[in-house]
Amino acid sequence: MHINATLINLYHICARECWLHANGIRMEHTSDTVYDGKLLHEMSYPLRADRHTEISLTAEFSNEIVLTGKVDFYDSKARTIHETKRSNKTAAAHEWQCKFYIWLFALNGIDDVQAILEYPKSRERTNIFLSEADSVYLSNTVDEVYHLLRSDLCPPRLDEKICKHCSYHDLCYSGEDLSSY
Ligand code: SF4
Repeated sequence: MHINATLINLYHICARECWLHANGIRMEHTSDTVYDGKLLHEMSYPLRADRHTEISLTAEFSNEIVLTGKVDFYDSKARTIHETKRSNKTAAAHEWQCKFYIWLFALNGIDDVQAILEYPKSRERTNIFLSEADSVYLSNTVDEVYHLLRSDLCPPRLDEKICKHCSYHDLCYSGEDLSSY
């Protein structure tokens, strides 16, 4: 099974969203938020093309799990990942996504990498570093995601404020029974 940075991000927002995404049930095309995020991505990154490279990383975690991540903008001189997000509503999930990238670098023998998480709209920037405790946490999280995704059962609805802005909102609140997916 491949577990990537997107799944780590989604798992920290909602296990159900993570499960739906991993099972190929995608609703992103219906979401203005996702559309805005893509626009932001396209507008922010061309300006940085000279200094930054795209990099794909993989690491074998166990016999059954391969970790993968695609960093859009990596400054190899400064050993810095730049991750841009539209809104800080799910900042904790963004931070774990960045830490997952740094962990992937470390698992590939590239240490002392940091990330800068940027929210251009609110002009916020956060520097992200990986501690030993974070690596242990991510290792446990990968195990949790693995067990979640092996299950045939869609996790229960979250019923939180975040649901209003989620691309799966209509699906989750339509009353449809997802247990058969
Ligand atoms: S609408 Fe809520 S419960 Fe459904 S996937 Fe999104 S966050 Fe999770």
